[in-house]
Amino acid sequence: MEKYRNIFSTSFTDYGNYLWHEMLNPSWGNYFYWLLGISLFFWLLEVIVPWREQQARIRQDFWLDGFYMFFNFFLFSLVGFNAISNIGVQAFNDFLGLFGISNLVAFEVHSWPVWAQLLTLFIVRDFIQWNVHRLLHHSDYLWRFHKVHHSVQQMGFAAHLRFHWGETIVYRTIEYIPLAMIGFGIQDFFLVHIFATSIGHFNHSNIYIPLGPLRYLFNNPQMHIWHHAKHLPHQHGANYGISLSVWDYLFGTAYMPEDGRDIELGFEDVEQYPKRFMEQQLYPFKESILTEITTETPAEKAKELENA
Ligand SMILES: [Zn+2]
Ligand SMILES: [Zn+2]
Repeated sequence: MEKYRNIFSTSFTDYGNYLWHEMLNPSWGNYFYWLLGISLFFWLLEVIVPWREQQARIRQDFWLDGFYMFFNFFLFSLVGFNAISNIGVQAFNDFLGLFGISNLVAFEVHSWPVWAQLLTLFIVRDFIQWNVHRLLHHSDYLWRFHKVHHSVQQMGFAAHLRFHWGETIVYRTIEYIPLAMIGFGIQDFFLVHIFATSIGHFNHSNIYIPLGPLRYLFNNPQMHIWHHAKHLPHQHGANYGISLSVWDYLFGTAYMPEDGRDIELGFEDVEQYPKRFMEQQLYPFKESILTEITTETPAEKAKELENA
């Protein structure tokens, strides 16, 4: 237990020191300045080659989403995720240790050239995330959390990182085992992470850059906007692609009936959805409690009244 307590407390201070160090020391291997740089780059593109010219350059919820960006990229790790995930990994390794398993590696790729490992990591991770994203739309419980991302009503690059912290836990947990099974020799996933973040910013940005046939490979604003459409013929959505659009074309979930430049975004009753950060963070839990109450069967309700 002492071991876990130590991991818990050092995780906070370690991450705090790391973040502070990042902010004070700009360098090429620095997440903080890369995030800032990528954001500035796509915002400038929105100013220079806007898709919806009428949309304000500082669009609706620009600052809210800017805060989400910083929160989901750094602060959530600082306030808890780093500690929770370090403990989770330790507990999982201890559990495996009970069966005499010291590592999960089933595919040895560490002898491959670095570029091949990075490419494999990028493709495998993106495919797992495509599946997780589908799950977020198909599970009623998870959809309540994913709705935060879909509450965006005016699209721009920063909408990329508007999502509930619960999603981080779902994605990381599901990704962990398959990625641990591949024996990547590369210690740092920096390049893949930065590349995927750039494509995510691109998908959500208010820009139009013709991709030609590359659009069948990479996700893009013209495709992803349909993922955010308020009205879709399919109950659980379409275009689940994160970085790559190819999975949607392969599995028949691609949907782009026409130019989606000015379509309405969100979901049914999005106008009533909370507009502020803290309220959006709490709402999925509230909604779960509300549904639990309202989905009681008449028999349950009668019993409850009897007991009251
Ligand atoms: Zn979605
Ligand atoms: Zn999105």
